Amino acid sequence: MSENGKILEIIADLMPEALRGVDRLQSRWDAYSIDESLAVPDAQARDVLGRLVDRLKENYPFWHPSYAGQMLKPPHYIASLAYFLAQQINPNNHALDGGPATAKMEVEAVAELAGMFGYGSWLGHLTSSGTIANLEALWVARSLHPDKAIAFSSESHYTHRRMCEVIGAATVEIPVDRAGRMDLDALREELGKGSIGTVVMTTGTTALGAVDPIDSALELRREFDFRIHVDAAYGGFYRLLAEDDRWLDATSAAAFRAIAETDSIVVDPHKHGLQPYGCGSVIFRDPSVGRFYKHDSPYTYFTSDELHLGEISLECSRAGAAAAALWATLQCFPLQAEAGLGPVLRKTRQAALDWADLIEGTPGLRLVLEPELDILAFYSVGEGKNVSGISRLTHRIFAELMNDPDHPLYLAKLNLKPGMLRARDDLVWDARTVTVFRSVLMKPEHLAYVPRLHARLIEQLKNLGGV
Ligand SMILES: *Cc1c(COP(=O)(O)O)cnc(C)c1O
Repeated sequence: MSENGKILEIIADLMPEALRGVDRLQSRWDAYSIDESLAVPDAQARDVLGRLVDRLKENYPFWHPSYAGQMLKPPHYIASLAYFLAQQINPNNHALDGGPATAKMEVEAVAELAGMFGYGSWLGHLTSSGTIANLEALWVARSLHPDKAIAFSSESHYTHRRMCEVIGAATVEIPVDRAGRMDLDALREELGKGSIGTVVMTTGTTALGAVDPIDSALELRREFDFRIHVDAAYGGFYRLLAEDDRWLDATSAAAFRAIAETDSIVVDPHKHGLQPYGCGSVIFRDPSVGRFYKHDSPYTYFTSDELHLGEISLECSRAGAAAAALWATLQCFPLQAEAGLGPVLRKTRQAALDWADLIEGTPGLRLVLEPELDILAFYSVGEGKNVSGISRLTHRIFAELMNDPDHPLYLAKLNLKPGMLRARDDLVWDARTVTVFRSVLMKPEHLAYVPRLHARLIEQLKNLGGV
């Protein structure tokens, strides 16, 4: 049995009792017959499920530590079980009446998220994704400052620009410094023009995992009047490791701690919160922004106690099962540094630090940046310092590793422009961009696997003359 098979066994073990529980709660009502139009013959069901599993072969092994490419991993089995069980009832968290139990779970889970970021008062809810969560935050930003622009960095998620188009908001792109963080001198200059209402800051950029200096941006608020929205879709849960400087750089830790003073935040439990897809969240520090949402009752007060999820969400139908899954997961993995989710993130962070050390210690290999979270970018100059050659090597090694018939290994690739390659100005820019490796080490199992990832990389590089 594969290592992952052990998890499937745990699921098979826990499932019967839980299903009996669902049956008990469903049998409180009068007996009735499931309509015959819904029946599927057993043989057909088995056949279809068998073919489905067969078709799922056409995937990369997202659950396995040899997959160290994009931000992908399966949910925790507690989340999967909770989702499946709640789905037997299929509550809809668009309104209290659509799912009273899961609406309460959603409020409790979002309270935990708000507490993690240090928001005292708050208004927030789960969303189907980080994109929708950001859309909602930007929509509120535009509602508060209809005549002002929304600023984001050139390394921010590509959906900010798109969503600003959707809501018809003017945008300003702020350049980044060599660490991939928003350049605050450039921001100050733009703020000086008086046209910016909200600045989007990212804690964990998608490409490089860079953390924008929120603490320093807060100081700018003494001079200029603007809101800060934090896009922590990927990195938000790293707030758990930011109480001191043991796990994160002092600058990133300070940025995470400063989130408490910002105006809104987006975090994706379906990234680092062990959830299946369909679970983002948006939280506002000022509950009175609830006034911008169309709601049924003019007498509703938007405080955390009187939150009506259906009235404060841009989306209508939302899976109550997603709230159940997050709630159940947080029961097992509380948002703490020393227990629960914290130790999981410490391992993913350590995996990145370990691999960064190995890369720095290998002649011919270079890091693009010291990792701030658990995302690494690196390249080989073994074939020379022309960026066209570096890109060629990246493409070839990427393919060789992935197509290895015995021990395939999956990385991702990233295109960078000049300026993002630290103080390494010795590269010869014979092309407009350079393609480097990118690796997201978001599974705790990556920690033990890093030496193998590195050994396989080195082996391929040697084969192709890259070190
Ligand atoms: C993933 C991500 C998003 C988009 O979130 P989805 O859940 O994929 O829609 C936005 N911003 C950042 C920083 C991200 O990492």
